Amino acid sequence: MDDDVYEKYLRAGKIAAEARDAGAELIKPGVSFLEIAEQVESKILKSGASLSFPVNISINELAAHYSPRNDDKLVFKRGDVVKLDVGSHVDGYIADTAITIEVETHGYDDMIKASADALDAAIDLMRGGINLSEIGKTVEETIKSHGYSPIDNLTGHSLERYELHSGMSVPSVSNMVSQAKPKIGDAIAIEPFATNGSGHVISGKGSNIYMLGSPIKSRFIRDNRSKILFNKMRARFGTLPFAQRWCKDMSNDINMSLGRLSFLGLITHYPQLIEQNGGIVTQKEHTVIVKEDGCEVTTTT
Ligand code: MN
Ligand code: MN
Repeated sequence: MDDDVYEKYLRAGKIAAEARDAGAELIKPGVSFLEIAEQVESKILKSGASLSFPVNISINELAAHYSPRNDDKLVFKRGDVVKLDVGSHVDGYIADTAITIEVETHGYDDMIKASADALDAAIDLMRGGINLSEIGKTVEETIKSHGYSPIDNLTGHSLERYELHSGMSVPSVSNMVSQAKPKIGDAIAIEPFATNGSGHVISGKGSNIYMLGSPIKSRFIRDNRSKILFNKMRARFGTLPFAQRWCKDMSNDINMSLGRLSFLGLITHYPQLIEQNGGIVTQKEHTVIVKEDGCEVTTTT
């Protein structure tokens, strides 16, 4: 990795981490999800980075993939277990980081610690050439030592320029065999999830998070309005996920337009990811750069 790219990863990481921590400070009973998402995203933009995905605010049994719509009415309640997942990029070099906050109560401190300890253990092991199954084993053992289960179908992931999930997965369980091995200079997001439920997520309703499909598909759009909108979105969002909130200026009825593009298979509307048995879920995530004898966390302040 050349110095320029390395600097961009570090800058994106610091900005995402500062926005994450500032957002976490603002989460209080009665505060709306929309306000937190907008505050965090505007902090990233003001710091000179771009958004690599919409701020995800997922509470309680929701593990991931919820971002408020522009008319969202949800507010935080005392006792909510909130996963705040934040992404920035500098020139396409991505930072992806998340923490869990329990609103005013302390019923889940140990589960929050379980996912944090698992992340620390994974970071301690990460280095060039490591067998990723070893990391999965450590994550699983750490979470189980706290009396919880890892979520087996959510994984960490390698990052490439303008690509949030670039192919390599970092498992949270030991029995998931991984062929790929991290190379020196790889950027990787590691994100263990712990739960008192079944350890498995299923898809729920829409997340309000979208991503464009291949530009080749746009050739087959017959409806001109959809074609224009698709091309506008391509110019604005490229290959990265985006929020309904970010395109409300692009159509008079953005919900209908997004629904139509989704129906035509031109965009993917991600589902919310819900713990199968309704268990509470915690998560912690950092982005790291792989080195020969370890790794460097980019998402610290
Ligand atoms: Mn994330
Ligand atoms: Mn991630």
